[in-house]
Amino acid sequence: MNKIAVVGAGISGLSIASYLEKHQLDYHIYERRKKDDLTGHGFLLPKEGIEYLSQIVDPSELFKQGNFLKKYIRYSHKGKILAEKDLQDVFVISRSSLIHILARNIPPEKITYEETVTPCATQKGKLKKQDGTYLDSDLTIVSDGSKSRIRRETFKDETMKTVQENEIVNIIHCKDIAARLESNFMKYHHEDGGLTFGILKLSEDTVLWYSQLDNQKYKISEKSSVESLRNYMFDIFDDWDPMVSSIVKGSNYENVHLWRVYELETLNPFYKDNIVFIGDAAHPLIPFTSQGVTSALKDSYTLTQYLTSEENMTDAFRKYEAERKPEIEIHIRNGRILLDQFLKPLDQQTENILPISYK
Ligand SMILES: Cc1cc2nc3c(=O)[nH]c(=O)nc-3n(C[C@H](O)[C@H](O)[C@H](O)COP(=O)(O)OP(=O)(O)OC[C@H]3O[C@@H](n4cnc5c(N)ncnc54)[C@H](O)[C@@H]3O)c2cc1C
Repeated sequence: MNKIAVVGAGISGLSIASYLEKHQLDYHIYERRKKDDLTGHGFLLPKEGIEYLSQIVDPSELFKQGNFLKKYIRYSHKGKILAEKDLQDVFVISRSSLIHILARNIPPEKITYEETVTPCATQKGKLKKQDGTYLDSDLTIVSDGSKSRIRRETFKDETMKTVQENEIVNIIHCKDIAARLESNFMKYHHEDGGLTFGILKLSEDTVLWYSQLDNQKYKISEKSSVESLRNYMFDIFDDWDPMVSSIVKGSNYENVHLWRVYELETLNPFYKDNIVFIGDAAHPLIPFTSQGVTSALKDSYTLTQYLTSEENMTDAFRKYEAERKPEIEIHIRNGRILLDQFLKPLDQQTENILPISYK
């Protein structure tokens, strides 16, 4: 196998590079961000995700950095318990910790940070670096995220649309709240639908909270400042159960972030010529599925298997797509069902619904 370029060092880029490293294949990663700029919040990982991760990272290191959740408790916004479900092997970890652990697999000379790779306007199918030179790879693995510029240039007629949901996410440091949460995943739902508040413990002193909002009912400017997001949260959650309103009021907002959610109307092919897409770049998944990371890990595993077993690149790409696409389509369908449920008033939602898509 000749030289492979990997574009993007998120979970999918770093995980495929970890597999390529294991197989001693020749690769180089190009990443737009600075090395230590590890923004982001956290991920839920179902059992399958943990199993795939355990192939490329030391599980004991992994488990030190996150938390296993024991129970999902679904509440009304006034604090009435609506349903409870025991969880098995559902792990939560911050994005920065997971990126940090995966990046340890990559020798420093095999990754270039602060390098944005773009499609070349004049030479179809060519990718170039910031200095204007082309990527000198025989095969390029594109893992540059849900809004992938390379994908949009490659499949010009794709229809990317915004989903009727925004998320406001925050990570706070607070031992008291972490202790109160124990290992429960608590999620509060407004009775009119379209508004939730979820809380999870990431570690003994770190808590992740997030709010999902129907963006037709709850309009927030994309350019909202930290201050205006904070005021927005204060306003909306003021009369919720004290567990929620006290967290909203007592939080530090320096890590707060507003997420716009996107999806593709229809999936594109996962490859073209010598370029193959993995993770969110191939298939943005809405957060309701909790399958973004696990799918990225499975893409990386599957693609590497075929790259190492097939005679030629096109056969490897074809088999990778044939194996991964049907499962992704299930998660997309499940995600749309979960979104539809979320938008409905509480009394019309299916009881005991767990915010994870299973195939
Ligand atoms: C900054 C950030 C924060 C996130 N935070 C959360 C979160 O809190 N919770 C959650 O559930 N999901 C989050 N996500 C999404 C989540 O990481 C992904 O859904 C999932 O991990 C699959 O990851 P991925 O590697 O396919 O894509 P991504 O995680 O989006 O990674 C793409 C990588 O490619 C790099 N990149 C983009 N364009 C270029 C380019 N042209 N050239 C070179 N490099 C490029 C980006 O800097 C990024 O590191 C976040 C994504 C990002 C980029």
